[in-house]
Amino acid sequence: MSKKNALQFLDIPRQDPAKKAVEVRIEEYAEIYGRFDAKIAADQAGRCLHCGNPYCQWKCPVHNYIPNWLQLVNEGNVEQAVEVCHRTNSLPEICGRVCPQDRLCEGACTLFDTNGPVTIGTVERYITDTALESGWRPDLSAVVDTGKRVAVVGAGPAGLACADVLARNGVKAVVYDRHPEVGGLLTFGIPEFKLEKPIVQRRRAVLEGMGIEFVLNTEIVGKDDEQGRSSVAGAGSAGATKSFDDLLGEYDAVFLGTGTYNYMQASIPGEDLPGVHAALDFLISNVNHCYGWEKSPADFVDMAGQRVVVLGGGDTAMDCTRTSARQKAAAVHCAYRRDEANMPGSKKEVQNAKEEGVKFLWNRQPVEIVGDGKVQGIKLVTTALGEPDERGRRRPEVVPGSEEVVECDAVIVAFGFRPSPAEWMTAHGIDLDERGRVVAPEEQVCAMQTSNPKVFAGGDMVRGSTLVVTAIWDGRKAAEGILDYLQV
Ligand code: SF4
Repeated sequence: MSKKNALQFLDIPRQDPAKKAVEVRIEEYAEIYGRFDAKIAADQAGRCLHCGNPYCQWKCPVHNYIPNWLQLVNEGNVEQAVEVCHRTNSLPEICGRVCPQDRLCEGACTLFDTNGPVTIGTVERYITDTALESGWRPDLSAVVDTGKRVAVVGAGPAGLACADVLARNGVKAVVYDRHPEVGGLLTFGIPEFKLEKPIVQRRRAVLEGMGIEFVLNTEIVGKDDEQGRSSVAGAGSAGATKSFDDLLGEYDAVFLGTGTYNYMQASIPGEDLPGVHAALDFLISNVNHCYGWEKSPADFVDMAGQRVVVLGGGDTAMDCTRTSARQKAAAVHCAYRRDEANMPGSKKEVQNAKEEGVKFLWNRQPVEIVGDGKVQGIKLVTTALGEPDERGRRRPEVVPGSEEVVECDAVIVAFGFRPSPAEWMTAHGIDLDERGRVVAPEEQVCAMQTSNPKVFAGGDMVRGSTLVVTAIWDGRKAAEGILDYLQV
């Protein structure tokens, strides 16, 4: 073992992975960050102070053993590092790409305010990419088959994480999804410039190698003769259905992780004008277009030549601005009702959007979408930040007489999502709360169990829209709950 230089952070500054030039990245749907090589990864990992109380680990929603795998990378031991990564995280290469690290692990790093935090996310990505590319695969040779079978509904991050933990504990997981590919929003919602789809497909192959089975293009419905909803993924859906009763009959337990797909409306006049789009519909249509998955060319929402205003300040809003820029919109604005410091989105994504030509309208609140038969502009009022609300965030207050109209041709509403529970859930004894979320508490004898003892749930459908990494946590916790329920 090499001798650790405890003060390496003084000698070696934080180094972020190289970014492609704006002129290059704006022309393609491809990840914008380069990779660390072994030397840089080791140097960056070696900046970790190994503080007695690793705040990064506590702030990470899956509580990754961050200092441990940083040390292993510093020693050049990727093979062991990837094993440690997978003890807490089912999709580490994906979290390394899409987590808002500045709000999570890196934001909690002791070096954050002084020398720059350790590049935790990039090192996590380095470990998993390097290991998978060199042929490493999870070793399940010691796993004993329990003979139990669990149906997982939804192949998004919660479902994949649940299946991963079940497989590692000898339970056969069969994952159903109505889309033609696995990943849920990892595949259909998150743009390629943050997560290239072959990364998700590689993980699918890893999971299949662990014995997990995927049944795609299949919607779970209330009754045998019920029609499935049309797939948001578009083409390729055979529209097969399977009843929830059949799942309950065929499997020892069921996990639900179907996410949230209803968008939060702006609830302002003009929202029904042609040219107003829901963020997710827009992002999905772009992925479908790029991959030839669209049912009809008319499904593609094309911003070429248009003046676009995106409403919202989260990561989905940034995804929309940056996708619009790649579609060659004439201008892209993002209007957010608080200031930059109070944006919920990742600072890194805001910076990337700025570099790609997006203009921000801070402290602006939409009050009306104006137009005659189509969108012609958006009426905004200026806000000032007032007293903190119950969550401690300062409330935006309207400045009287501050109305202005920003001319535009398209508006994308990115205010988040509402739960979209299937109608059959309550008929099967699965309780929902007043906001339509499935009730499945973590803190109980069998974690994430719903009011139907055989059914577990996690991710967005339980929490409302949340982070990928939080959905992974839920899926893993639910698998533990299922193992307790099955007493295996
Ligand atoms: Fe950071 Fe996300 Fe990885 Fe946790 S999972 S260490 S929050 S990048």
